[in-house]
Amino acid sequence: MSSALRPKRLLLVGGGHAQLFVLEALARVRVPGIMVSLVTPDVFQTYSGMVPGWMAGHYALRDCQIDLRPLARAAGVDLVIDTLARLDGDARCVQLASGRRLGYDLLSLAVGSETDTSWLELLGDRLLAVKPLPDFCAAWPRVLAAALQRPGLRLAVVGGGAAGVELALAARAAFAARQLSAEVSLVSSQQGLLPGRPTSARRYAMRALSRAGAHLHVGPATSVDDGLLLADHTRLKVDCVIAATGARPPAWFAASGLARDASGHILVDACQRSVSHPEVLVAGDASARAEPGLERSGVHAVRAGPILAENLLAILAGRPLTSARPQRRTLYLLSCGSRRAIAMWGNWSLEGRWVWYWKRWIDRRFVRRFTRSDPRPQVAPPRQEQAR
Ligand SMILES: Cc1cc2nc3c(=O)[nH]c(=O)nc-3n(C[C@H](O)[C@H](O)[C@H](O)COP(=O)(O)OP(=O)(O)OC[C@H]3O[C@@H](n4cnc5c(N)ncnc54)[C@H](O)[C@@H]3O)c2cc1C
Repeated sequence: MSSALRPKRLLLVGGGHAQLFVLEALARVRVPGIMVSLVTPDVFQTYSGMVPGWMAGHYALRDCQIDLRPLARAAGVDLVIDTLARLDGDARCVQLASGRRLGYDLLSLAVGSETDTSWLELLGDRLLAVKPLPDFCAAWPRVLAAALQRPGLRLAVVGGGAAGVELALAARAAFAARQLSAEVSLVSSQQGLLPGRPTSARRYAMRALSRAGAHLHVGPATSVDDGLLLADHTRLKVDCVIAATGARPPAWFAASGLARDASGHILVDACQRSVSHPEVLVAGDASARAEPGLERSGVHAVRAGPILAENLLAILAGRPLTSARPQRRTLYLLSCGSRRAIAMWGNWSLEGRWVWYWKRWIDRRFVRRFTRSDPRPQVAPPRQEQAR
């Protein structure tokens, strides 16, 4: 069939936050003459914001997961359970882990990021990276089982950012709920806890760790065969290390031919289009903007969702695209394990039990929005500016 006659192929890869908005939009607006597939390793998309709450026993795992099947069905999208292994941006095709090849006319990537564990490799099977989340969620019950069998199990969380703090506090809460004597240490970089966050929030986090009985070690650590060598040259012997050590892009980005920033993430413009391959749109942790200072977070991935969805539909319909400038200030809510949480906004922060209930409301609302069998939007999309 000549390419002018065949339907346009829209390929969605990864069920990340922004892709959920694409599925929602495709269910609302049926575009004639397109074939849409979604490649995802799993039928469930795990919502990271609730994972610490699951560890702490506040949620069942299923509460933190979005089933992609009804969303895909409602959107008329063919679900392909597989993993993208190679992308050839110039040839406009992908190769999946199964060996299957798929061509596309328009590609939407929301594949997130990986945990950078390169400097912890010596730990071997003691190392547990927080991403991919499904692997982490499969492994965490085994850590709990080991702690049950072995009193005094030593767990270290490496990474003093928001995820590291939440994971350390969630682990403490999980052990305390089972009256286990397991020890939890949090190892941060030289910059200490929550770098770049308000001093008050860092104090709240410090207080939460001390209240929970978790030990904090500040300063760069390296991995040794039986644990971590800390900045003060003491050896922290561990049975398990959870790595929350920051995001790195998947290795296959490098050979994609797509323009990337210095850290290897795919450079996009204000419309979420790859700056080198405009038929590729990227959102969430996988993407990078030319202007510096934009964090990788679920909040930004969610904000990019309506723009990604709108622009895919606009390209298919030949309409002008919509652009958005990411907000510099973002509300972050950090759970402290014991049904308390810290809220951060610019230089401002608050801590308390009610913050945890606020976070719970926001998180559950997000999951519920995409769990409906009738996936119509429940939240008004943000205001957008017209690019051209
Ligand atoms: C414990 C923890 C708690 C966090 N809490 C918060 C929070 O409260 N607020 C906040 O803003 N941020 C939070 N974050 C950060 C947040 O997780 C990320 O910034 C966010 O998940 C990025 O979203 P995304 O949509 O880009 O990717 P993801 O949510 O990671 O989704 C990517 C999807 O793509 C799939 N995928 C990956 N590779 C492939 C492939 N090759 N082929 C096909 N599919 C693929 C994955 O399976 C996954 O389903 C937290 C992170 C962690 C680790």
